[in-house]
Amino acid sequence: MKTILFSSLAVAAVAAHNPLEARQSASSAASAGTGAPPPSSFSFTLATTNPTAIPLASIVSNAQTQATHALPTTFSPGATPTAVKGAPPLPNAALLAPSSYPALDVIVRTDSPEVQQWISEVNKSGIPIPDIAPTVAGGCPANPVAAADADKSRCWWTCGGCVQATDITTCPDKLTWGLTYDDGPSPYTPDLLQFLNEKNLKSTFFVVGSRVISFPSFLQTEYMQGHQIAVHTWSHPSLTTLTNAQIIGELGWSKKVIKDVLGVTPSHFRPPFGDIDNRVRAIAKAMGLTPVMWTRISPMATFDTDDFDLHSGASTASKVLQNWNFIEANATTFDTGFILLEHDLFQQSVDIATGYILPDALAHQPAFKIEPVISCMNKPLTDAYIETNDNKTNPPAQSASGGPGSAQATGGSGSNGSAVVAALPGLGSVVAFTISLIAVMTL
Ligand SMILES: [Zn+2]
Repeated sequence: MKTILFSSLAVAAVAAHNPLEARQSASSAASAGTGAPPPSSFSFTLATTNPTAIPLASIVSNAQTQATHALPTTFSPGATPTAVKGAPPLPNAALLAPSSYPALDVIVRTDSPEVQQWISEVNKSGIPIPDIAPTVAGGCPANPVAAADADKSRCWWTCGGCVQATDITTCPDKLTWGLTYDDGPSPYTPDLLQFLNEKNLKSTFFVVGSRVISFPSFLQTEYMQGHQIAVHTWSHPSLTTLTNAQIIGELGWSKKVIKDVLGVTPSHFRPPFGDIDNRVRAIAKAMGLTPVMWTRISPMATFDTDDFDLHSGASTASKVLQNWNFIEANATTFDTGFILLEHDLFQQSVDIATGYILPDALAHQPAFKIEPVISCMNKPLTDAYIETNDNKTNPPAQSASGGPGSAQATGGSGSNGSAVVAALPGLGSVVAFTISLIAVMTL
């Protein structure tokens, strides 16, 4: 690694050619053969790094597997969750029987008694499910009819970023970062928890049911230490491609395994790939789940570090840090806070978070307030779970009244990407921003 001097003007020019791409769009481009292999070097600046960070040159797709930390703390069955007032005692994770759950990483069957029960409950909820046909795999290019309707009655986030008022896409307060990690728990989650503990940081974890079965004690430690636990489906499918029954099964089994491990049921979820439309919203609402997305600044640019692609080699550590710089610079100009997409599934994603992104964010001036999404929404952690929600500050999604922007407003028009941009003051400087720091590292 070397350090070179770069003018702020030059850095701005680099950034201007580096619009963050929604991962699905990027994947589509790559699969269509239109994307060139990623360059190996990008410019970025960091105020500081973790002294024990894994070298950037080692954060690569074929990285040697590192020894992982043990869980910082484990908790006994029956322990009282002090972080969540009024929560029931911690269940015994050792009693979890994987054979009682769907197969791992496969879209759930819909003919089980459990899914049939949840379908019945959704039907009885009174929440109308819009008659929107499932999409086919492949995102916007593969679904021209749906894409044309994406910012209208369908309100499909994937194509252009349509949101409803019920979607959480940012934190209300300036310089506040709703910290999130998706797709875990994984063997590398304890490494992330170790760092978060050291810095007294709390996060929201959007967990996959199939991973919870594999690492229940990891989930218990996250929860007991005061992190927010939220749903990220059972097998991580693109939800708009599924039938209503499959969506209900994916959300239902994820809710159930979390409840079985923690004793409480999350009230928030994140759709894998951000793939949500008004049909998915309505089903989620009927199941008591509020969607949490990540901040989008234009139809094509979201706050996605692309850390997920480090593992496959589709992205590089320097590119991820350049993305982070772009996010950081834009976020600083907002009158609201922000939410990023990051992951704790792979060693590389955790290494870049703990070694570089989080240390740099903690050194940022003006300071970011880094906290779980439920906290950045100025709500107590008890609102993150159906059993402990007092229904005052966070009315359950299922009983929330309809109206403009709700998932019930199926015939209404959603806001499109440009409306999102208009709602975020300061975005006129997205392309023209300059970076005051001039030391730029390249690999
Ligand atoms: Zn995910």
